[in-house]
Amino acid sequence: MGLNDSSPGAMRNGRGLTDQWAESVVVRPRTTERHITVHKRLVLGFALSIITLIIVTAVAVALSLRFDDCGGRDRSGGRGETGSRGSGGSGRLNGSRGERTGERGDEEVVQPWKNSRLPGSVRPRHYDLRLAVYMDNFTFSGEVSVELECVNATRFIVLHADRLEVRRPQPNRPGGGVMRIHRHFPYPANQMYVVVLHRELKPMRVYRLNVSFDAAIEDELLGFFRSSYTLQRERRYLAVTQFSPIHARKAFPCFDEPIYKATFSLSLRHDQQYTSLSNMPVESGSPADEDGWVTNRFARTPRMSTYYLAWAVCNFTYRETQTSGGVTIRLYARPDAIASGAGDYALHITKRLLGFYEDYFKVQYSLPKLDLLAVPKHPYAAMENWGLSVFQEQKILLDAEVSSSSYQMELTMVVVHEICHQWFGDLVTPVWWEDVWLKEGFAHFFEYVGTDFLFPKWNMEKQRFLTDVLHEVMLLDGLSSSHPISQEVEQATDIDRVFDWIAYKKGAALIRMLANVMGQTLFQKGLNDYLLSHMYSNAARDDLWSKLTQAMHSEGRDIDIGEMMDRWTLQMGYPVVTISKNQSEQLPTRYITVTQEHFLTIGAETRIFENLQWQVPLTVAVGNASTVSTESLLWINNRTETHKVGQMDDSTWLLGNINQTGYFRVNYDLQNWKLLIQQLHSNPQIISVGNRAGLIDDAFNLARAGYLPQGIPLQLIGYLPEETSFLPWHAASRALYQLDKLLDRTDDYRLFSDYVLKQVASRYHQMGWPTNGPGTDGNILKASYQTEELQRELIMLACSFGNKQCHRQAVAYISDWISSNKNRIPPNIRDIVYCTGVSLMDEDVWEFIWMKFHSTSAVSEKKILLEALTCSDNTFLLNRLLNLSLSSDLVPEQDVIDVIIHVGRNPQGRNLAWKYFRDKWDILNARYGEALFMNSKLIGGVTEFLNTERELNELKEFIQSSGVGAGPALPRALEIVEGNVRWHRLHRRHFYQWLRKPPSSTFG
Ligand SMILES: [Zn+2]
Repeated sequence: MGLNDSSPGAMRNGRGLTDQWAESVVVRPRTTERHITVHKRLVLGFALSIITLIIVTAVAVALSLRFDDCGGRDRSGGRGETGSRGSGGSGRLNGSRGERTGERGDEEVVQPWKNSRLPGSVRPRHYDLRLAVYMDNFTFSGEVSVELECVNATRFIVLHADRLEVRRPQPNRPGGGVMRIHRHFPYPANQMYVVVLHRELKPMRVYRLNVSFDAAIEDELLGFFRSSYTLQRERRYLAVTQFSPIHARKAFPCFDEPIYKATFSLSLRHDQQYTSLSNMPVESGSPADEDGWVTNRFARTPRMSTYYLAWAVCNFTYRETQTSGGVTIRLYARPDAIASGAGDYALHITKRLLGFYEDYFKVQYSLPKLDLLAVPKHPYAAMENWGLSVFQEQKILLDAEVSSSSYQMELTMVVVHEICHQWFGDLVTPVWWEDVWLKEGFAHFFEYVGTDFLFPKWNMEKQRFLTDVLHEVMLLDGLSSSHPISQEVEQATDIDRVFDWIAYKKGAALIRMLANVMGQTLFQKGLNDYLLSHMYSNAARDDLWSKLTQAMHSEGRDIDIGEMMDRWTLQMGYPVVTISKNQSEQLPTRYITVTQEHFLTIGAETRIFENLQWQVPLTVAVGNASTVSTESLLWINNRTETHKVGQMDDSTWLLGNINQTGYFRVNYDLQNWKLLIQQLHSNPQIISVGNRAGLIDDAFNLARAGYLPQGIPLQLIGYLPEETSFLPWHAASRALYQLDKLLDRTDDYRLFSDYVLKQVASRYHQMGWPTNGPGTDGNILKASYQTEELQRELIMLACSFGNKQCHRQAVAYISDWISSNKNRIPPNIRDIVYCTGVSLMDEDVWEFIWMKFHSTSAVSEKKILLEALTCSDNTFLLNRLLNLSLSSDLVPEQDVIDVIIHVGRNPQGRNLAWKYFRDKWDILNARYGEALFMNSKLIGGVTEFLNTERELNELKEFIQSSGVGAGPALPRALEIVEGNVRWHRLHRRHFYQWLRKPPSSTFG
């Protein structure tokens, strides 16, 4: 599943920032109140059991029937499932007579539907699902016939159903005879439906459960839902599914947990003016009946989890292509988008990607076809349903004439991600949601590997991965409110939260570290073995570790991957590794001391996680002015260790975490930092581009947390005028915007912005502005991406921090656009120009952009026009925009949150956004509270700038008055704001002191 990840480097009144904080899973602390409730329940449950036991015993004795201890019968069947937690050992009647007497007993005692997980006594093998879809009144009715295998004897069939009108459940015996039902009822608290039988189902036998149901085609973006688009002024509707993670139960009664894989046969009946699609190709379609209805019957799927089942009813058109292996790939979209060729790019790369993954994993794509469906509205960037992946239009349709390179890159990566899931996710599915990173981490990692296959020159995995994944997630995971990547999750309502950036980005970073430790060949060998062993089934992290360990052993490398990785997946956070040259007299100079401790991004008053330790694969190289040694790998398992490295003297420096393949920070003794900085100033190329970016990111973050003097990162970026590569500039600008948020309302702000502009000026003037118009070299496919991106980064820095020439250029572009009504602004820098223009020019420009926002139909253009509107200095206009966004349908619903966040990024709009957010919290929470990701993004977005004691108190008050329903976002916001306040108290003075009086020479 692809999360909406607003493109890195989004512009805010010149201040480019990324949306950082996705929702995270933190198990809520058990409060005293909860303990009491649990305790009461236990006492009550115990009393009930005793009473029941007495009654049952009496009745049983009276009837002279045999007792059977079967309290454990409804316990777990399939692996990985939690069993029913009903009181074990209580008596239950098991005779052919007297059932009516006994059932009250076991129902009350066992009650498997009270458990948040399915009991596992029966497993589905096959679903025969028939649906009639009424697009005229947005309802559907269905019949499902589930083939069930009994695992443990039981009288209960418990499955999921939510918002369904269930009619006539009918269980059948293996031979086909009807089974009598004692009672059946929904249990909404756990979104379950329960059928209680008169007689037990017997293990190893196969039964059939038929259920009819009716439901609405939802207006919300989950389950089976509808959306619309306009074609030639006519509104057209479509209906499509989004079942991940727990919404299949909203479309048909099913065993809606990933472990219950089954095969599916689907048939869809609908008006002939629509087309229908599903995971598999149509096997047989009926001609229209007299009412103009058709029925499409789709071929039987392979074994798969319920949340990957998908269907759509729409009147889209398509273009198609075929792989050499005979797989048909079609891209379905609005007829006008298909006609304009907007889907061709995605179709083209998908074809190449199927080949790439088949070669890499050495496992064929499993289905005969793959459809990509571009829908106008979707809760996620995309969803990897097997054979029918669904995308938001703006994540798959490309108008090359007006799209920026970052838009194209984002789109490419979303496609690469979803195609990877056809293996990691669809074919091999994580056992349970706690290990969702097993699919999301892989898909995110392969975004970079797969994009490198498509465009080798982009060098994504070695470069862009560092800033966009590693640096990004280390900020988040360095908070004490972070959580382990594998995290227990039981309640259905908690499941959405596992799809956070820890799962995606930390998952990807850990996989990349592992791939580098193992080496490409063994890593691939291990993955191949893992996929083959678990295809059409489920796997847990230990299954992966054992296959990777086997691969290592096969080459005589004695590493226990599971033992190593458990430290990284079961513990939150990551270490800072400090390398210092040996100071002791006893040992020769080629020895170094290495220590590790848990790193906290924004420092802490007290260290509360001192016991955390990791198995760190630390690569180290030794260098001097002209050469650098090859790296050596040191395993750091203890808090402090001494290791031997190459020959060293006073002028050699040490460099750790070569090419930043490891998921940790590296610190050095001050003398070594100075040597490294000297090296960067004199000849940066000796150090790899990845490490140059890594040194910048580590230095800023170490200083922020109080590990380093504030002057060190500032000194370090003094080398940037010599820097010709994009990545270190990108790392620097990300770090500088972090500081900018802290400083932009301080009296000495000019000291900071002038220092930044001084570093930027020469390279900015040298690179200049793109001269091309739209549709020529602005196209990422034709241009050198690294050069384009560097140019963009420099323009963004220059305009944001107040370079006059940059401002003049932006204003000239806007004036030209207004006077000529021709937009000659290169697509790649449009966001910067629009925003700068709106912030510097008068109200007419704002109105002009507002008008363009309404008139354009290109999705990427619409988004940056809307964001530009938030760049105004005029609080009246900002207020108007906020009100229009929330209370009218002028702004698409999913963009409202971005408007508020972007107003908050504007220093002139900060107070306004913060106040607006608090005033409208009830409305916002009601509208976005369900989509935790949105809510969390909003909370992070409007609070991350707060940094005064007064604002901290306002935040605390807000949390107290309304802190429900926001999950971990509010505690995280509080930690960040407290850290901001602390930085001002402890470090701001030193920071400005250094800027006021930087050393005359590099190290004066
Ligand atoms: Zn995904």
